[in-house]
Amino acid sequence: MITKDKEFLNKLSNILTKKISPANSASAINKLFKNYLNVEEAEFIIWDNNNMLLKDFAQDWKIFKNDDFGNEINYIYSTLSMSNGAKFYFNEAEFDCDIKEEEQYKILELKSDKNIIFFPLVSNGEVFGLLKISSEKNAFTTEFFTLLNISSKLISGTIINYILNEQMEISLNFYKAMKDIAKIIESQYELSYIIPLIGEMIDRFMSSHLIYIFIFKEDKYRLVWPNACKDTNIYNLLNEISLKTEYVLSYDGKIGVFPLVGEDNILGAIAAYSNIDKLLQKDIDYLFQLTRQSGLTIQRANMYAEVLQYATMDALTGLNNRRQFELRLNQEVSNSKRNNIPLCAMMLDVDYFKKVNDTYGHAAGDCVLKGVSDIIKNEIREYDIACRFGGEEFFIILPRTKLPEAASVAQRLRKVIEEAKMDIKSAGVKNISYINISVSIGVCAYNESMEVNAFVQKTDKALYEAKTTGRNRVIVA
Ligand code: GH3
Ligand code: MG
Ligand code: MG
Repeated sequence: MITKDKEFLNKLSNILTKKISPANSASAINKLFKNYLNVEEAEFIIWDNNNMLLKDFAQDWKIFKNDDFGNEINYIYSTLSMSNGAKFYFNEAEFDCDIKEEEQYKILELKSDKNIIFFPLVSNGEVFGLLKISSEKNAFTTEFFTLLNISSKLISGTIINYILNEQMEISLNFYKAMKDIAKIIESQYELSYIIPLIGEMIDRFMSSHLIYIFIFKEDKYRLVWPNACKDTNIYNLLNEISLKTEYVLSYDGKIGVFPLVGEDNILGAIAAYSNIDKLLQKDIDYLFQLTRQSGLTIQRANMYAEVLQYATMDALTGLNNRRQFELRLNQEVSNSKRNNIPLCAMMLDVDYFKKVNDTYGHAAGDCVLKGVSDIIKNEIREYDIACRFGGEEFFIILPRTKLPEAASVAQRLRKVIEEAKMDIKSAGVKNISYINISVSIGVCAYNESMEVNAFVQKTDKALYEAKTTGRNRVIVA
């Protein structure tokens, strides 16, 4: 091989091994071809086999969907008819399958002094695209064909490597995320918290799919994530699944329904609707694994919830749980009414808590919830009743307390929390042991004309106002 050719190939592999965007590499390849081989223009054409990774890679390249073949073929065909000197006769069917792996190239002779040459991009014995070269006729030499033939192989290799890497990374991330979720869920029993996590996770890995999660309850599938599903096909497919079904696909292959199975019953289902084309086998595999794992988790959550129905304490924070909260609030309200003694309540919500989860992970979020509840326990009086109301919301019942006093307790609590360093060491975030957070608090006094629910609502409304007016503050209803 002559020095010039070696130099060319060296430069090409440099471009291909450099971590630059496909668009930039395409333009660098173009330049190289121009300089060394007198190529006028190189175009990269990738078949659209619905491979998202290929598409990602080739986002600035020319991508042909099967339906687009018509246009390209028409163009080629009309050029051919005009030129009347074709070496190859193209028609739609032929073009589609004409270029084979073992063929090195095809030439389309135009009437002008230009030609178009197609080199196959091949992987695993399959042509997945073309390198389309336009060039002056007199540029064609044996060397020209040889070099472009090698180039098309190198380019194929790069694209395939890219895709394999991406696929591996996605799988690794997927398994890591599955593990993380399993870990979070071990300490959780509230389905209302677990389901969105599962939903968000699937969303993350399958952005081009609509995901729905259903729970099977009282002989019916009930949508729990997101809020609406109008697709009757999905509901029809739901009726087809049984304990033994791995999954069912719709006739057109765009919808897949995967049962969430517990030990010996169906707990629900996850439905995926692909808004591009058929669901790919790899997506089906992911969803299948994920529903299997989620089924066990939900089963455990259900069992745990059943046990906890008889408990009074919230597992994570050690405060009164929601059930106990309802009980105690009713007692205190009737006590206040009966004996005409003052009663106040405050509702507290961690500010931007989602950000804590997103930035440091859910384990750190849990540490913060423990930290906040420890402070609450410390700051309130013996006969105050602190409850975990839900996720990152706390409700504190303050018996025998008048509004100004309640407001000052709330202010003190807010300030202590604002100044506290929340210990998140056990979450194992690199280089970060403490974080600062703040809370918003709504305070409200009970008056005897109120229903219990209205009392809670009025407190919640004050909290809402504290949020909307800037957070890290106390609002008295
Ligand atoms: P705002 O200031 O408006 O309150 O913003 P926010 O991000 O705190 O509000 P939002 O209510 O949107 O977020 C609450 C988050 O709390 C969402 C949910 O994922 C998370 N969460 C709920 N329960 C738990 C839990 O037990 N542990 C952890 N780590 N996160 C939880
Ligand atoms: Mg919040
Ligand atoms: Mg909240």
